[in-house]
Amino acid sequence: MSDNRIFNFSAGPSMLPLSVLQRAGAEITNFGGSGMSVMEMSHRSKVFQKIFDDTQEKFRRLMGVPEGYKVLFLQTGASGQFSMIPLNLMSRTGKADYAITGNFSNLAAKEAKKYGTVNIAADTSDCNHTRIPTQAELKLDADASYFYYCANNTIYGTEWQYVPETGNVPLVCDMSSDIMSRPVDVSKYGIIYAGAQKNMAPAGLTVVIIKEELAGSELPYTPLMMNYKTMIDKDSMYNTPPCWCIYMLGLMLDWVDEQGGVAGIEKIKAAKAAMLYETLDNSRLFTCPAQIGSRSDMNVAFRADSEDLNAKFIAEASAAGFANLKGHRNVGGMRASIYNAMPTEGVEKLCEFIKAFDKNN
Ligand SMILES: *Cc1c(COP(=O)(O)O)cnc(C)c1O
Repeated sequence: MSDNRIFNFSAGPSMLPLSVLQRAGAEITNFGGSGMSVMEMSHRSKVFQKIFDDTQEKFRRLMGVPEGYKVLFLQTGASGQFSMIPLNLMSRTGKADYAITGNFSNLAAKEAKKYGTVNIAADTSDCNHTRIPTQAELKLDADASYFYYCANNTIYGTEWQYVPETGNVPLVCDMSSDIMSRPVDVSKYGIIYAGAQKNMAPAGLTVVIIKEELAGSELPYTPLMMNYKTMIDKDSMYNTPPCWCIYMLGLMLDWVDEQGGVAGIEKIKAAKAAMLYETLDNSRLFTCPAQIGSRSDMNVAFRADSEDLNAKFIAEASAAGFANLKGHRNVGGMRASIYNAMPTEGVEKLCEFIKAFDKNN
């Protein structure tokens, strides 16, 4: 890396590829000869409309979004979708299934209860969310308006390794922390959404992929800005969209293309995660709370069995240029978030550091 950048293992907002930042930097005062920054231009201008359309096209192509689905660029934050989903989808039968596998799915289920009956299809809180439930464990209601789950549990470091089978019940998935890290069959889903700040762009953009036929049955008191139909009809531009973030997403998507698309990214990320887990599994000091078979390739949680050692590890790692390795307070210990933009070199260097720490303590 250059520009004196450090390896940033933040869970989010998280690092972006250096080449993307450099390109944004080069274009920051004068985008494409327009004489102005993307931050300064009208969202109704031709120049911005082209950025928007190109970004839509690239996203659809890289994610394999089929016909019949809309891609929305919203400002709600991933958390805003906790409300927007039940507001728009709950009315079909008045009830929905939620799989609680961590903090964010728990918050989503709590929010949904305001708008209908929530059936807890699974809940792994009894083991502090160290594993993902199996298909057989899911308590499914065939009459649910939708089935909701969170693909990657950012805080607990677990990740679904399969797509739940829910028959005719539409699948709704929070992919905030693993979108574009592995190919996804979008046609299996009703809604996929993600806050952009983990794997795609700066904070301020939320991407929603929605099967169009699911929109238009919102509860009568649904706020205008929380209505998928409004945003579909106006192509995400009922009001000012997060223009700068959409532009940054476009640059990120070009970078994903350079890595061989999502399939190329998947190979790189699988190798990074395997390297880190292997290093931890072969250490004397460290264990991973996430159970094998449920481990996340994006957020690697680990710890030593003494708080003193954890604190020492975090302090020494930070001094050595590995930033933001402290685990979430719900889990403790350490967490290395190794999203798409984390170079393989960063994980290699971290593994060397872990090995040396393991030897010396
Ligand atoms: C970060 C995160 C969220 C919250 O995102 P906001 O955009 O801050 O609301 C929700 N779900 C998951 C899985 C996350 O990682």
